[in-house]
Amino acid sequence: MEKPIIRIDKASKFYTGELGGIKDVSFQIDRGEITAVIGSSGSGKSTLLKCIYGTLALDSGIIYYDDLRVLGPDERLIPGHPNMKMVSQDFNLNIYATVYDNIGAMVSNRDLKYKGSAVTSVLEQLHISHLKSKRIIELSGGEQQRVAIARALVTNVDVLLLDEPFSQIDTLLKIQLRRDLKAIVKQRNINVILVSHDPLDGLSMSNQLVILDKGKVIQTGSPEEVYNNPRNIQVAKLLGQANIIEPEFAKFLNLVSENQLIIYPEWIQVSDSPNAFECRVVEINFQGRAEEVLIERNGLMLTMMHVDFGKIQIGDIIRIDIKKYIAL
Ligand code: ADP
Ligand code: MG
Repeated sequence: MEKPIIRIDKASKFYTGELGGIKDVSFQIDRGEITAVIGSSGSGKSTLLKCIYGTLALDSGIIYYDDLRVLGPDERLIPGHPNMKMVSQDFNLNIYATVYDNIGAMVSNRDLKYKGSAVTSVLEQLHISHLKSKRIIELSGGEQQRVAIARALVTNVDVLLLDEPFSQIDTLLKIQLRRDLKAIVKQRNINVILVSHDPLDGLSMSNQLVILDKGKVIQTGSPEEVYNNPRNIQVAKLLGQANIIEPEFAKFLNLVSENQLIIYPEWIQVSDSPNAFECRVVEINFQGRAEEVLIERNGLMLTMMHVDFGKIQIGDIIRIDIKKYIAL
């Protein structure tokens, strides 16, 4: 096994006089991976990213990059690890300069031929070649975002740190950017660490999910591992709007449990198997690729996903089956 490229060991950062920051954060990152740090607003995601980059000093703990401690802002002439680049939410672009000049400004003029080809290559990788002569103020938020990422990538970084990279763009562009980033990571064998409040970003594009809550890591693992084995209710709710069943209600679902149960909506199916039981349809919300159906049994409400469109109506009694559940 190759050594991890980044190791975070009990990293803590406290802000004076307030709660917040991060506490005892530990995890490792392998080379060539996409790591997604997911947590609600205020959970410490940006703080963690700045500590990894070295623009914020830790109060305790250590962060290693390639076995060397990442130096804090006071320990370096230019804060920030030389092998990393961070794209923050404000992009930090020169809005009156062109796309080409914004990106080119990151490359030395010593070898103009190299500079030209380096800029051209990142413009192509991010599908923004057609924008190269435009000024930043003429671009949409999504386009500016791509320029900001291109600007970081043109410096041949090993680690790209992205703070909420998908927050300002619509769904279609989001899917495209996720794909492009995945391709770039693979092609260049670099690392991306992204933070987001949207679990879908992590589930759909990361190799490793890190779930942060109130500055602490509550779970890490591959998206599949974390989704299918959430450590607690918070993780399950965050990742998949799970149904949480208190033990005393389990019997209504023909289950017996002394613990809370987690049932994702897609684990509930309409069925005519002998185990199936009756529920009443309370609400149906069309969501394009599925209907989100709210059902009720003995006062217990459940949300299920239903793809057999138009077959059920509000007020219907339907028979359902629980395909899978997790007891905490
Ligand atoms: P996130 O990026 O997950 O929204 P942040 O890392 O920005 O969270 O912030 C985590 C917590 O630390 C928040 O409660 C925030 O108010 C607090 N915090 C962040 N930066 C500072 C600061 N410079 N001074 C004091 N408190 C801060
Ligand atoms: Mg933030």
